[in-house]
Amino acid sequence: MSIRIPGFTLGIVGGGQLGRMMAVEARRLGIKTIVLDPSSNPPAAGIADETLQGSLYDPLSLGALARRCDVVTYEIEHINITALYELEAAGVHLEPRPRVLEIIQDKYRQKSFLLQSGLPVPGFAGVAAADVAAYVPAQYPVVQKLRTGGYDGRGVQVLLNAKSTRLQGESMFESCIDIDLELAVIVARGINHEAASQAKTAVYPVVEMVFDPRAQICSSVAAPARISDSQAKRAIEISVAAIEALDGYGIFAVELFLAKDGALLINEIAPRPHNSGHWTIESAVTNQFEQHVRAVCGLPLGSTELLRPSVMVNLLGAPGSNGVPNLKGLSAALALTGLKMHWYQKTSVQPLRKMGHFTVGSHSLEEALRIANQASDLLVVTGNEDVS
Ligand code: ADP
Repeated sequence: MSIRIPGFTLGIVGGGQLGRMMAVEARRLGIKTIVLDPSSNPPAAGIADETLQGSLYDPLSLGALARRCDVVTYEIEHINITALYELEAAGVHLEPRPRVLEIIQDKYRQKSFLLQSGLPVPGFAGVAAADVAAYVPAQYPVVQKLRTGGYDGRGVQVLLNAKSTRLQGESMFESCIDIDLELAVIVARGINHEAASQAKTAVYPVVEMVFDPRAQICSSVAAPARISDSQAKRAIEISVAAIEALDGYGIFAVELFLAKDGALLINEIAPRPHNSGHWTIESAVTNQFEQHVRAVCGLPLGSTELLRPSVMVNLLGAPGSNGVPNLKGLSAALALTGLKMHWYQKTSVQPLRKMGHFTVGSHSLEEALRIANQASDLLVVTGNEDVS
């Protein structure tokens, strides 16, 4: 595939913060972007060259986007797969391919695929919606996950005992892992290469994800992870093997559990740039969004080298926040050394909604963590209709 600059057009399904940051990088490379999003003014609007308003489940909207683009990619995996297969059959170039998305969309199917590929995963069982109430797990606690539609911890819950309220719907029950650390590995796979010497697969250093106990949502990421070299090597081996088994192109985030007994297990894979890779914008030679654009457009992959230890913190809506967002503490936070701010321009705030993030880079991870903690205390996102 040759790429004409200017003129080459990348379609992005979903115009949230990931679509926004992808559009920034595409624009820098001279690639035009058109975004499809259900809302009229998503975070990517104003950054992408054009925004189409339409449902990600509507074949006509997806078709309208695809017709105008050289390649179509995604910032989200919850899309109408049947419509994507039809577009693919009609000759539209979609990356990652619908087949990859279909495996990943369904947590049970994804885990089954990983298991069949010989990769380490927690024990799991698929349970039909009608059997959820009567299902007896081998032991408690057990983790119940809805097979489809969940994100940021929605659709996941730990059942402490037989009396715990269960989620309704097609489910997967998973052994509850005694987690020491949650890790992530961002893997890029490029479609083809202009120079044979370019690596086809590029991997970023392993990072540590910290979760907000209020809602199992990722609250911060430390790069690099504080693990041994052999653990990092193993995490990278497992992650690359998973993406090679999937045979997907683009950026993939592999989330792993490092269990207290030392086992490394894959939790799940995201077929797109991911929250655990936002630190790469300031602190890697090629950031994950540029890398994704390069990978899906058939350009050579860039260096994934870490420039300096960094901590990324999500700016989440405060408890009770509602209405038009208001960021407090920006001036004080920007006065801190090495802090870089990203505000997503969402039009409304809700408790725990991801409204922006900041990254602190420093000479050591300890120093980056110290400054990031200071900034976290300063920055608060509230709304003009807060409920107390
Ligand atoms: P989502 O797709 O919404 O991010 P995940 O499957 O990643 O959902 O689960 C969200 C969080 O729940 C994980 O990051 C982890 O903290 C916890 N969790 C998920 N599965 C398990 C498990 N098998 N054992 C223990 N904790 C888990």
